Amino acid sequence: MRRPRDKKDFAEFEFVRSCKKSELLIEENVLNEKGDLKVALIFPNSYEIAASNLGFHLVWKLFNKLPRVRCERFFYDETFERFYSLDCQTPLDEFQIWAFCVHFENDIINVIDILKRKSVPLINVERRSFDPLIIFGGILTYADLDFLKVIPDVVLHGDFEAMVEDLAQILSPASRDELLERFSKLDFSSVKVFEKKAKEVAKFLDLSKSAPISPVVPARGEFAGRVLVEVERGCVWNCSFCMMSSCKKPARFVDPNVITKLMEKDLKLGLIASNVTDYPWLEDIVQKAREKNIWISVSSLRLDRLNENLLSYLKQHQHSFTIAPESATFKIRQILGKPFTDSQIEKALQLGRKSGFSQVKLYFMYGLDEETEEDLTAIGKMVSKAYEIGYNDVRLTLNAFVPKKGTKLGTRKMQDAKILKEKAKAIKGSIPSRCDVTFESLKQLQLQYIINQAPEGTWLEVLAKIQHTSNWSKQLFSNILLSFFSLIEERNDGFQVLTS
Ligand code: SF4
Repeated sequence: MRRPRDKKDFAEFEFVRSCKKSELLIEENVLNEKGDLKVALIFPNSYEIAASNLGFHLVWKLFNKLPRVRCERFFYDETFERFYSLDCQTPLDEFQIWAFCVHFENDIINVIDILKRKSVPLINVERRSFDPLIIFGGILTYADLDFLKVIPDVVLHGDFEAMVEDLAQILSPASRDELLERFSKLDFSSVKVFEKKAKEVAKFLDLSKSAPISPVVPARGEFAGRVLVEVERGCVWNCSFCMMSSCKKPARFVDPNVITKLMEKDLKLGLIASNVTDYPWLEDIVQKAREKNIWISVSSLRLDRLNENLLSYLKQHQHSFTIAPESATFKIRQILGKPFTDSQIEKALQLGRKSGFSQVKLYFMYGLDEETEEDLTAIGKMVSKAYEIGYNDVRLTLNAFVPKKGTKLGTRKMQDAKILKEKAKAIKGSIPSRCDVTFESLKQLQLQYIINQAPEGTWLEVLAKIQHTSNWSKQLFSNILLSFFSLIEERNDGFQVLTS
């Protein structure tokens, strides 16, 4: 790609190029140079977040395995104007298909920002023959969320590995209309312009058939310096607030030989799972990693599945461990579908301490209708207990409860800001002052709720409002969305989970 002359474009170009240069490719020739249909795979968030997402890299690799497709990766930054690809710094405008990875509700704001900056109509049925074809895939496509009916031209529901053969048949250069027609023939696609709904969510059941290993080792982000391996897809548990419990069944595990082979190459690994502690061969993997002195980090641990062997191994490479009791009382944990007993939580804290950790991070949720003051102030007691056990650094992160479509608690309503602020105050008052406490932004959580729950009509109204606005900003869009909070609270519809 020729370097841009304009100073601002040059800075953007150089920034994207520096991200690419910092990466280590462990698989050669991923990019299908011969592909004559150009697909932009866009992660609508920062490079650090995109680089930590294994799914983003896997889909990139798989798209490039399709004979006619050349797929390049993109990420989002508020300052970007041209949007250059990571792989070759090709401008986004040169791609006919824009495939967005939608894993987090609030990233939709960034998707809209990209479409606005590139003057692409925001509502699918208003796009013209020369506009790019907008595809959404990712975790949010497992549920029946209404923005999926309004923004993308095509939604690909489910696991990408299970789509590859069908996509290979239909993806070759063609007009926008022809491509839409072809996509509409797939069982796992929704195509609004034909009012065609998916018949199934594509499921890839044998992870070992296409080993979920990232071809890229990023130098930045949460998993910097590590090869990511997805050891579990889906989740065995049934937490009532979590989409994984209803939309991503059954839980599947990768063959341990896949990990052993990577260890033979002396690579640092990051194991990705809903709960790495559910992986049936974890003990063996940890044992081998100890013997070979290999660094393995894990994405998440479930507190009732911990053991000293695992924690003492992790302690060699990390200085804190993280658990999510979600609530400090059994009553609320039962409602959340995580019925840990008090003694299980205490035992997990003791195990961590015994394994040498002096810092612990705890995640809690608040904002359920059943909560009393006692449930809230019990969080402070749990923190005091952690100090008693011997931790000298306790860090709390608290999230207000956001009901999500596709979950057991999905038809509930989010509590309003006034109540949540009072609850936060009660929690804060109970926590020892030496404890480091972070409350996630209420505004961001409300946006998450609205984006998840807003009905199709609301989306059409909001997007029509901002389509032609001359003073566009993400702030304006967020404020318009927030103005619909009370309307969404008044809804009385149910929700539908897409299942196959
Ligand atoms: S919260 Fe964690 S354990 Fe519970 S269903 Fe979701 S991913 Fe599984």
